[in-house]
Amino acid sequence: MEMLTKAPKGTQDILPGDSFRWQYIEDTLIDIARLYGFEEIRTPTFEHTELFIRSVGDTTDVVQKEMYTFNDKKDRSITLKPEGTAGTVRAAIEHGLTGGQLPIKACYITPCFRYEKPQAGRFREFHQFGVENFGSSSPSADAEVIALADQALRTLGVTKIRLMLNSIGCLDCRPAYHTALKSYLEAHREELCPTCQERLVTNPMRVLDCKSPICAEIAEGAPKVIDYLCGDCATHFDSVKKRLSALGISYEIDPTIVRGLDYYTRTVFEFVTDAIGAQGTVCGGGRYDGLFAELGGPSMPGMGFGMGLERLLLVMEASGARIPEPDRCEVYIASMGAAASVEAGRLTAQLRREGFFAECDVMDRSLKAQMRYADKIGAAYSMVLGDNELKAASATLKRMDGRGECKISLGESFMEELYQIVLGRQEDDLLDAAEKL
Ligand code: ATP
Ligand code: MG
Repeated sequence: MEMLTKAPKGTQDILPGDSFRWQYIEDTLIDIARLYGFEEIRTPTFEHTELFIRSVGDTTDVVQKEMYTFNDKKDRSITLKPEGTAGTVRAAIEHGLTGGQLPIKACYITPCFRYEKPQAGRFREFHQFGVENFGSSSPSADAEVIALADQALRTLGVTKIRLMLNSIGCLDCRPAYHTALKSYLEAHREELCPTCQERLVTNPMRVLDCKSPICAEIAEGAPKVIDYLCGDCATHFDSVKKRLSALGISYEIDPTIVRGLDYYTRTVFEFVTDAIGAQGTVCGGGRYDGLFAELGGPSMPGMGFGMGLERLLLVMEASGARIPEPDRCEVYIASMGAAASVEAGRLTAQLRREGFFAECDVMDRSLKAQMRYADKIGAAYSMVLGDNELKAASATLKRMDGRGECKISLGESFMEELYQIVLGRQEDDLLDAAEKL
C-alpha cells in the first residue's frame, strides 16, 4: 500500500505552505531574464529519445545511465527531458526561428528527470531555470549569459558562491588535445572504471567528468585542454575574461571543468558552493556551437546555462537569503447563524472581486473557532456578522492587532468605506517603510 501513499524515490512534493518560496524564485528569475531580453519558451516534457542521444551525447552519464526512457503504445522511444537545451534547440529548428531575427534569446523553468542516486541536492525529478542565446558566436554573448546568472544569484541573496570558468576549445583544437589526453589515460587504463575504459576509445574527455573517485583522481593529473587552445579559441577566451572583469564579475579559472554533456565548445562555467554538501554545482553552462548542425539544423552558435532550483534554494538558505512572506488575508468575515453566513459569503465574494484577499468560514465552525482561525492565518482585519449586524446593515471592522476598530456599512457603501479604511492602513505602511529608509 506504500505505493499509494508514498511518492516515487527521488521526487518531492512542494506543499501549499512552501510553494511561495518557489513562486518567488521563479518570478524573480524570469523577471531578471527579461531584463536581458530573454523570453520564456515552453517545450514538451518528453521528446524522441534520439534527440537527447544526439545532443547530450551517447557516451555521457546522462545518456548511458540516467535517462527515463520508455516505448509508447506505438513503440516509439520516448524520453523524459533530462535537461532543457536539446528541446529548445529542436523547437528553434522546427519552427524556423533560426531564419528570423538574431539572436534568439529564450529562457525556461522546467522539470528535468534523471535516474540518479537521490541525496541532498540530487533528485530524480528536479527543476531547472535555463537560458539560451542562439545565433551569436561573440564573446559578448558569453559574458551576457554569465552576467545574467550572476545577477540572478545576487538578487536572490546568494553570497556563498564562486564562478569557475574554463574553455574546452573547438573541433579544430580538440584533436591535438585528444591525442595528449589519450596517451595519458592509456597509461592508467587498468585503473579506470569499466565505463571509462570504453570512453577512452570513444570519447576520452568524458573520463574527466566521471564521478568514480579513482577516475576523478586520475583526471586531476591529466593534460588540461586550456593548454591546447587554438588561436581563435584563446582569443575568444581572453575576451570573455576581459568582459567579465569589465562587468565586475570575479571568476576563477578551473581547467578541470569539462561539463557533463557532449555539446559544449569553448567557454564552460559553473557556479559552485561549499555550503550545501557534495552536490555543490548550482549552475552550469557554456557555449555549444556545434549543436544545431548536429541536430540537422542550420549551423548556428549557442550559449546558455541550466540552474538547479533545488540547489538554488539550498544555497539561498545557506547564505541567509530572505524570501518575502506571501500576502496574508486582509479581511476575515466571521458569522453566526445561517443568514449571516450567506451574507458573509456575499461580502467576501464582493471583496475578492475587488482584488482583496478575503476569507469567511467554510467549516461551519463556532464563532470562537472562526476567530481563532482568523488569528492563525494572520488576517489583518476581521468583522463579525450576526442577527444584530444584519438588522442594522452595519458591522464593526476590527484590526486584528487590536489597534483600532470602526463601523462599516454592509450596504451600498461597503466597498467605498472599506477602501478608505484599508488605504489608510497602506498609508501607515508607507510611512513605516519611509521611516526605515
Ligand atoms: P552534477 O555534476 O551535479 O551531476 P550535472 O553536470 O549533471 O551536475 P547539468 O547537466 O549541468 O548538471 O545540469 C545543470 C544543473 O542542474 C546542475 O548544476 C544542478 O544544479 C542541476 N542538477 C543536475 N542534476 C540534478 C539532480 N539530479 N538533482 C538536482 N539538481 C540537478
Ligand atoms: Mg549529473
